[in-house]
Amino acid sequence: MARNAIVTGGTRGIGAAIAQCLKAKGCNVAVTYAGNDEAAAKFKDATGINAYKWDVGSYDACKDGVAEIEAAHGGTDILVNNAGITRDGMFHKVGVKEWSEVMQADLDSVFNMSHQVFPGMRERGFGRIVNISSINGQKGQMGQANYSAAKAGMIGFTRALAQEGAFKGVTVNAVAPGYIATEMVSAMPEDALKKITAQIPVGRLGSAEEIGDCVAFLADDNAGFITGAVLTANGGQYIAA
Ligand code: NDP
Repeated sequence: MARNAIVTGGTRGIGAAIAQCLKAKGCNVAVTYAGNDEAAAKFKDATGINAYKWDVGSYDACKDGVAEIEAAHGGTDILVNNAGITRDGMFHKVGVKEWSEVMQADLDSVFNMSHQVFPGMRERGFGRIVNISSINGQKGQMGQANYSAAKAGMIGFTRALAQEGAFKGVTVNAVAPGYIATEMVSAMPEDALKKITAQIPVGRLGSAEEIGDCVAFLADDNAGFITGAVLTANGGQYIAA
């Protein structure tokens, strides 16, 4: 049966690869984005996947947006909470604005989106929620107290909701990527990239498609025994328990 999937922040980078992996598995996929209409149009032209614009940091916008997608596609079977931003800075220089923006886009969004689809998943007895966390939510990262806190929060959320969804056929898992060769990372100066790569035991950056494959695995009908897990995909850079 074709599953209905929503990928937040699915028009660029890792989210775009996740959306395409799910489509290749036969899912009906819809993606969301924040404001980059040009990237969204390019993605839609290339993939045929519909893109919807709203701020996932807003509960009401998520309510209306998910209702619009579900009216067109039917109930959501798979939700991938991928949208995220960074507002980096050393803690003593970071203000309320940088803290709040990251919390809203990276963590509130997980509540805002999951809250729309979880009841329907429970009723239908099937659901897959996959949250895209980060290596920096596992180990912490200097200059990213806000981002590390939000990404660690996603892991706590994953472990708690997994326990609530399990007996209703709803699994909740997280993927924690390390450095992935998205446009932003690849655009870094060669020296900086060399320094990063030197810290990765496999000797290279990850690809967005590799994260897409992790998500497709966890979203599969056959992955029903895996819940509350954090799948690390970081080339051995940080090996967590
Ligand atoms: P990108 O910056 O390439 O893409 C982010 C996507 O999220 C875009 O589609 C963007 O929309 C959307 N988005 C951002 N904020 C919002 C919002 N408030 N509401 C709706 N959509 C929003 O990100 P990456 O592909 O690099 O990262 C994807 C996820 O993976 C993030 O959660 C990130 O933290 C995580 N991650 C990334 C790593 C990496 O190396 N790249 C490593 C570890 C984790 P728009 O195009 O309109 O701006």
